[in-house]
Amino acid sequence: MSAPHAQPLISDKFLHTNVQKEAEVLAAALAGKQLSGTSEVVSAYETALASFFGVRYTLALSSGTASLHTALTVLDATNGAEVLIPATAPVPSLLPLLTAGAIPVFVDCGQDHLGFDEEDLQRKITPRTRAALVVPMWGYPFSLEKTLHVLNQYHIPLIEDACQAHGTLIDGRKAGTWGRIGCLSTHDRKILATGEGGIFLTEDEDLAQRARLFTQLGGMTGKVHGTKYMISTLQAALGLARIAQIDANLRQRETNASHLRAALNQCLNLAELDYPVGCMPNYYAFVIRTTGAEMAPVIEALKERGIPSDITRYGYRVAYECPLFRPFFRERCPNAERLIEGITTVPVHPGLSEEEVQRIAHAFLEVDHLAR
Ligand SMILES: *Cc1c(COP(=O)(O)O)cnc(C)c1O
Repeated sequence: MSAPHAQPLISDKFLHTNVQKEAEVLAAALAGKQLSGTSEVVSAYETALASFFGVRYTLALSSGTASLHTALTVLDATNGAEVLIPATAPVPSLLPLLTAGAIPVFVDCGQDHLGFDEEDLQRKITPRTRAALVVPMWGYPFSLEKTLHVLNQYHIPLIEDACQAHGTLIDGRKAGTWGRIGCLSTHDRKILATGEGGIFLTEDEDLAQRARLFTQLGGMTGKVHGTKYMISTLQAALGLARIAQIDANLRQRETNASHLRAALNQCLNLAELDYPVGCMPNYYAFVIRTTGAEMAPVIEALKERGIPSDITRYGYRVAYECPLFRPFFRERCPNAERLIEGITTVPVHPGLSEEEVQRIAHAFLEVDHLAR
């Protein structure tokens, strides 16, 4: 078969189009003359976030990275403490562990999902384990019931890195609200985007207070250590405007995803990544898997058709293959290796035209035979 003509590249980034409205919101914030991280705008943004996620305590922070570092710190998962983390965790989920001085302990994931394999999880718990961290990559959910059952027996707190999972539903409840702490990012590429930014969620008053102190210079009393991880008023103003749009954003993603799913139903070798009944992805990206073979030829053929993949964009691979995390390698995680080889992502964001969604759907049918 001859190579298809080069087709225009489909953007993997959603560009917000309410520029006029958002300029007004930012102008109003500027007129308020208070631009720091302790303004009324920031408080209002935190209240809106608490209401969206349905949690008691919400901190708007400077990044997802800051939120993860804060979570590890307030749970004392620092200086030599072990943190259980799936081998499929991406670099930004892992770097805060190194910042905190914690030791990543790689756990295999399930055969068909990016959560923990609970048997391996149990096996890797030691007296030094201080926390476990899950990452619903691309907003794809997995059940946390068995994971929490194991962790609760050992009183190990769960941190959710829900940086890609705004609005993802796990057994009917939002991702980020299952763990002792939920961490989200509002970086420019994320579903809720403030340029740079992060969110810290918890139901625990003590953890919330410690997080507040840690992210605000320890209260500047000189008694408690802290750093500066606050969001600024302009970012919060943008977040406040955009959180009002998030449900519409999520609905359009689901509509686009339903067209892609319809095409996959006609494929023999490609399918959507599985998720349990009662769960719902937020469609940060649409994830496909092969039923057997490697995904590499499919990724290449999609690229020829102008359809980008997060796997190649970020050089996604099992964490212990990255030079930085190789020293923490203990044993291979076969499920994680197989899963990563067999998946890829395609864009599904609300900025896609109908023609672009159809182009992706059509490409699935064309490349299906490569996945055999
Ligand atoms: C984006 C992201 C982060 C880091 O968030 P920043 O706001 O960029 O610091 C961490 N973990 C995951 C899974 C992410 O997608």
